[in-house]
Amino acid sequence: MIERTLSLVKPDGVEQNCIGEVIRRFEAKGLRVVALKLIRIEQKQAEAFYAVHRERPFYRSLTAFLSSGPVVAMVIEGEGAIPLVRQIMGATDPAKAEPGTIRRDLATGIERNVVHGSDGTETAATEIAFFFNALEIIR
Ligand code: UDP
Ligand code: MG
Repeated sequence: MIERTLSLVKPDGVEQNCIGEVIRRFEAKGLRVVALKLIRIEQKQAEAFYAVHRERPFYRSLTAFLSSGPVVAMVIEGEGAIPLVRQIMGATDPAKAEPGTIRRDLATGIERNVVHGSDGTETAATEIAFFFNALEIIR
């Protein structure tokens, strides 16, 4: 099934000049970028984006991190895009991520893990709409 998913290059990834490397890895697996922008995410927006983690001990630090610098937001489209992007990203903790994944290769910690990808159909729809309107998704 052709799916769309929301991916972010987080502030650490942008700071490390890894925007191109993240996109290259998606494209190399046949995925397409159908929307893309460089943005700053305000603290309040970061709190809304990660609201599902509101009760977790890392919530404050995570939302401060996400709003600490520029972020690339993009919509990625392709066959099985939601699980495929998650596979290319690797596990949340880079120490547990498979070799050859973005997080294993580029991340510096469990929080500073370079990339975000939606974890399911409903979250993908919600997260895409969080950053993009219909006219910004180009196919
Ligand atoms: N995170 C963290 N500590 C943890 C778990 C997660 O700082 O113990 C951060 C990390 O940046 C992660 C984000 O919170 O990417 C969202 O967590 P989630 O469990 O949704 O991981 P993901 O879906 O990004 O793999
Ligand atoms: Mg998640």
